[in-house]
Amino acid sequence: MSTGLEFQLSGIAYPQDPAHMLDEICEHFVEHSEVLRNADRAVLKSPFGTASIHLQDQRLLIDLNCPSEHSLQMVRTSLAEHLFYFAGETEFDLTWSQPVSAALLPNLHEVMVTGAEDVTPHMRRVKVSCADVTPFIGGDMHVRILVPPRGRQPVWPRYRTDGRIAWPDGEDELLVRAYTIRAVDVERQELWIDFFQHPMPGVATPGADFARNCQIGDRLGLLGPGSGGLPVSSRMLLVGDESALPGIARIVAEVAPGTDIEAIIEVEDSREEQPLPTEGTLTVRWLHRRRYASGANGVLADQAKAAIAASDPDTFVWVACEKDDARSVRSFLKSRKHDRKSMYVAWYWEWDAGTAI
Ligand SMILES: Cc1cc2nc3c(=O)[nH]c(=O)nc-3n(C[C@H](O)[C@H](O)[C@H](O)COP(=O)(O)OP(=O)(O)OC[C@H]3O[C@@H](n4cnc5c(N)ncnc54)[C@H](O)[C@@H]3O)c2cc1C
Repeated sequence: MSTGLEFQLSGIAYPQDPAHMLDEICEHFVEHSEVLRNADRAVLKSPFGTASIHLQDQRLLIDLNCPSEHSLQMVRTSLAEHLFYFAGETEFDLTWSQPVSAALLPNLHEVMVTGAEDVTPHMRRVKVSCADVTPFIGGDMHVRILVPPRGRQPVWPRYRTDGRIAWPDGEDELLVRAYTIRAVDVERQELWIDFFQHPMPGVATPGADFARNCQIGDRLGLLGPGSGGLPVSSRMLLVGDESALPGIARIVAEVAPGTDIEAIIEVEDSREEQPLPTEGTLTVRWLHRRRYASGANGVLADQAKAAIAASDPDTFVWVACEKDDARSVRSFLKSRKHDRKSMYVAWYWEWDAGTAI
């Protein structure tokens, strides 16, 4: 019988402390996939496929089973990147049963800026032309933007033999940040990305700056789309701050007619509110940070939890915001045993982290 996971690959990892690495894998991936664990084996399941990791003879034996060649490459790359990250400075080796070609990444799209405008005082929309917008229709909403240094010919990433991505460095180093495709304009073959402007005195914000400073004709890369599809459900609760507003706006714009949606969106003040056209039935509650008591913490998370508690258990709960808020809502959903398939909870940025990817 077909499992729908016909694309397979195996690998062997040689960490210094394989048991500890298996623990780290489980601890990390539980935020992104379903993790089944026993003493010497972990199975990670996500819509992209299944990774089975078996601790044997001081090695980790890896088996990947995925629904397409594309998802197989994505799962391999994601796992490889994480394993090397967990290995840190310690000696580590990873080999795969089939050679990894040093080709350009299949989900890399070179695009060109066609315009930029302010949607609200702190939300700047950049429009880019893309030779083929088909992969961006429906499905996953997220991309990594790759911005080459100004004035240089872009050098795009390729695969390494261990499955990781070889990023250009030195003078060709790319700015890499995660963003959401806010809209796909099929007629004009354009994609829209909304960049929240969160400048802080003395802190570099290269992603936000790109949107402010880009010019028509600038070239950039989009890696994706991936991670985080448009939810499908007749009842949804959508929660987020400005970083999630493009995602929320896209979801409500693309839901099936009649979908029942409640949204809780935290912005600075009423000037940051946006119209959210939809064919669903939408109730939006805008939270204005400016009105919060000084030192208030976790307001968005508290509001999300109250709304979850009051909602029907089969509601799809979609949450994206700062790390602490996202984690707090995820724990709450877990404590209520909310169906994992009916939730998406992600942190989109982190206080003082310097990077939120
Ligand atoms: C899957 C995904 C999709 C995303 N989609 C979008 C999107 O469509 N639009 C969008 O604007 N953002 C989006 N984000 C968030 C965005 O990637 C981060 O905000 C990113 O940190 C911005 O990069 P930067 O270079 O401007 O700032 P960084 O260099 O990453 O950070 C600089 C400083 O700014 C602070 N900071 C970062 N982000 C925020 C924020 N949102 N609010 C307040 N302070 C912040 C950091 O704590 C740090 O101190 C998304 C993130 C993910 C993971």
